[in-house]
Amino acid sequence: MKIAGKITIDDLPRICPLLSRATNPRYGTENRRVVEVRGVRFGAGSPVVIAGPCSVESWEQTMELAQIVKGSGCDMLRGGSFKPRTSPHDFQGLGVEGLKILRAAGDKTGLPVVTEVIDVRLVDTVAQYADMLQIGSRSMHNYPLLVEVGRTRKPVLLKRGMAASLCEWLGAAEYVALGGNLEIVLCERGIKAYPSGEYSRFSLDLNVIPAVHAHTFLPVIVDPSHATGVATMVEFASRGAIEFGCDGLIVEIASDRVDAPRPVCDADQAIDPPTLRRIVRFISEREESAAGKVRVEEYAL
Ligand code: PEP
Ligand code: MN
Repeated sequence: MKIAGKITIDDLPRICPLLSRATNPRYGTENRRVVEVRGVRFGAGSPVVIAGPCSVESWEQTMELAQIVKGSGCDMLRGGSFKPRTSPHDFQGLGVEGLKILRAAGDKTGLPVVTEVIDVRLVDTVAQYADMLQIGSRSMHNYPLLVEVGRTRKPVLLKRGMAASLCEWLGAAEYVALGGNLEIVLCERGIKAYPSGEYSRFSLDLNVIPAVHAHTFLPVIVDPSHATGVATMVEFASRGAIEFGCDGLIVEIASDRVDAPRPVCDADQAIDPPTLRRIVRFISEREESAAGKVRVEEYAL
């Protein structure tokens, strides 16, 4: 019996003809589209590491963390300035002031910056300051916003909705692509599963990485910070994601100076600088060894 409205993997060529592997044979069975953000290449073989604060909270905090991100050997700087918070009474981000701080920190360190756009009315403003536009988990289903970022020519980091299937996620990416913007990097950030929230914030769906690679040519990175919500799990989640063949990581960090203010946003999942350095070292050592050359290639549904 066919359930009305139910979509399956077999529907992907119809849902996303621009992005499905099946409808784009020139990518073969495993080639990725390389998405470039000011010289940083996603899907080119070596995993990309993006790190930074959850939210841009001050000039000093962002400058300090940008130097740490750069000094650790990461490729890009992250930091939210328009924050989609569960309560409207919570800190909502510094807005345009935060965009300016992030831009300045990126320029000072030479790191490209990615930041979230949550409002269709702010796409041009955010695009003025950011090198890459992030669509958050809560906005993945905001189709007018996807259309609007699809009209820009800025690379897009499209997070997976916290309860989205692969088909829904790739359907959202197709909205961006239809505007002519194929510079899309997908991001798995944990999904709601039955035990989510009991011992970790969400459930990291590593299984989806080879599935993404099997069904689309877009690169996919992993956010171990929101997926776990627990700082001590972030390094393990990062290593697992790399073993599963992801094209990069986006990680939240905080200063470990004793007099540094505690982050207002997502403090419990922020890793310290030594942990970030270990993650980067794990990736580079793995790339140098034979193990890094072994990819999860055999995957079929
Ligand atoms: C973020 O990366 O700042 C964020 C809010 O993540 P998510 O949309 O995955 O919850
Ligand atoms: Mn966060």
